[in-house]
Amino acid sequence: MIDLTSNRLCFRQLDKPQDILIANAKFVITPNGPSEKTSIFVSDRKIVAVGEKSEIERRYTKPEVIIDASNSLVIPGFVNNHSHIAMALLRGFAEDLPLFNWLRDKIWPIEAKLKPWQIEVGAILGSTEALLSGTTTINTNYIYDPEASEATAVEFTGMRGLISHGIFDWTEEKSLRLTQDLAENHHGKDDGRIRIATSPHSAYSCNPELLKKIHALKDKLNEKYGRKYPVLSTIHASESSAEVEEIKAKYGVDAKRGVINYLQSVGFLDSQTICAHSIHLTEDDYKAYTSTKASLASCPISNLKVGVGVADLPRALSEGITVSLGTDGPASNNTLDMFETMKMASLLAKGVKGDTTQLTSRQAFTLATEGGAHSLRQENEIGRLAVGYRADIVLLDLSSISAMPFYDPYSYLTFAARSGDVSDVLVDGRILVSNRKIQSVDVEKLRERVSAAVSEIITQI
Ligand SMILES: [Zn+2]
Repeated sequence: MIDLTSNRLCFRQLDKPQDILIANAKFVITPNGPSEKTSIFVSDRKIVAVGEKSEIERRYTKPEVIIDASNSLVIPGFVNNHSHIAMALLRGFAEDLPLFNWLRDKIWPIEAKLKPWQIEVGAILGSTEALLSGTTTINTNYIYDPEASEATAVEFTGMRGLISHGIFDWTEEKSLRLTQDLAENHHGKDDGRIRIATSPHSAYSCNPELLKKIHALKDKLNEKYGRKYPVLSTIHASESSAEVEEIKAKYGVDAKRGVINYLQSVGFLDSQTICAHSIHLTEDDYKAYTSTKASLASCPISNLKVGVGVADLPRALSEGITVSLGTDGPASNNTLDMFETMKMASLLAKGVKGDTTQLTSRQAFTLATEGGAHSLRQENEIGRLAVGYRADIVLLDLSSISAMPFYDPYSYLTFAARSGDVSDVLVDGRILVSNRKIQSVDVEKLRERVSAAVSEIITQI
């Protein structure tokens, strides 16, 4: 029995997108860099003007809401380009294990027992955490059910999402059907705020024939549903150095030239493919990336935590690969905090290369915003504060202790800002976080539902 009525009590009705004046911001991060004393006007889900306060107020006289930003830094919302937000429910569930043991002995067995209502609760928790820390777009894949899933949670909390259902050898038939259902029920919803992807888990858990079938399914879904918003694909690839041996042992296929090269050889990669992790890349893998224009979503904190290594982002960037950042699921991070992720990505590049000029604070911020937007093929819609872009906007409170003193916005954002500095968050012209409080979720009800979900998990261990 799916206990959905209680879950739905967590949701507050989403407002209609409003005409909003973000007035007189101390700084706005524009595509050309920081701009002082700047206002933004939002209407019909989009940014319609960015400029000097008096000029904006003269042109747009009837805002429904005015947000005083005189002590704020205003930035485009973060794009978390690889996660499993429902795993917020498994935060701290299994620790200190090697990746394959962590997955096979702990995570996959408990996931097989999770019910759709529990997954939805985890995803509401994950969305809430992400929004409160300034993430406006999430690329998340988990277990889909038409009644309750990450898709329903993201839809109700008001976030922007690319949602997918993880496919494995042992779930093939059911998973392909569920992916079709997901596309039919959710792709393009709310003016394109919700989009979907096909999602084979990895090259070591999907055989080559299945990878081909999934690619063909993506093409079919694009023909049917993808005219306005493309259906993408996402996969974990080259996360662990053991993947090549796994592929050989399970499928008898030689992937010695690299996992990305192997994915290209089976016809899985194209410019709509997002590969998470990509740590152990060969020269052929770099060529596969550049020739197919597939994009890379790096999750530095999760990679360190499960002990699989460090992706070479400076090299990937120098090859012209589209690079973005993600947190991965909260069971292997254990947060959805993109500030931590930007900082870690930058520090690792500097530390591993022994070169402080690598991955500057500004570059890390660009990966977390524009990089994700490019990877999601939404580079003309999100990731920037510019006229015509969706109003996915985050305000940070510069009276926070971590913002004092304030010499440089990018240095603050990547190295000093805390998620608690986020005061207001808009997605598609809706105010989802106001004065550090989530507007679309009843947090007390959510607390009750998390408790109910976890008490069942504990009995299932
Ligand atoms: Zn993952």
